[in-house]
Amino acid sequence: MSIKSVCRICRREGMKLYLKGTRCETEKCAFERRGYAPGQHGQKRRKDTEYGLQLREKQKVKRIYGLLERQFRRYFSIASRKKGVTGETLLQLLEQRLDNTVYRMGFAESRRQARQVVRHGMILVNSKKVDIPSYTLKAGDKVSVLEKFKENTGLKRSLETLPKRGVPEWLEVDTTALAGTFKKVPTKDEIALPVQEQLIVELYSK
Ligand code: SF4
Repeated sequence: MSIKSVCRICRREGMKLYLKGTRCETEKCAFERRGYAPGQHGQKRRKDTEYGLQLREKQKVKRIYGLLERQFRRYFSIASRKKGVTGETLLQLLEQRLDNTVYRMGFAESRRQARQVVRHGMILVNSKKVDIPSYTLKAGDKVSVLEKFKENTGLKRSLETLPKRGVPEWLEVDTTALAGTFKKVPTKDEIALPVQEQLIVELYSK
């Protein structure tokens, strides 16, 4: 997907989804420049049906975490079988993904880049190489960067944006050692995404 088309997703969803890493923090951000939906009718007000709203919310979460429909469905199915509130469990499972955590720790500029970094075998979990982006982290797991990746320019660029992005409270990061800890599974409030996950549950419960 090109930069342009990725930015269309933010414009379509009506909010910044931070899919392009450092670019998202600059005035080059397409949403900052044109915060209405793309296309001929983008500036007209849309009337969303209940189904339309539910669908939008699902697409938004799917796109934030960069998942395909079948991957997303799988997470929903796991969440619905677990104890607790399905929508919250769904977000928690997504946050536990290794690629998401690599991004959140500042070792990649976007979740998409984090996925590549993991796939290329640059990440260790508890000192063992893990190249599966969907790997589910548990409380106490240590995530670190392979020695040879520490001088990577993309990694350095990403770390420069970390103070602005901030490290979520459920993670601990040592930016000198390039290592961090997944301290605990976050609550929905801690995840703090502008998402109404209940609408996704309603959509899949039809
Ligand atoms: Fe593009 Fe801005 Fe969205 Fe980043 S936040 S993906 S730059 S529109």
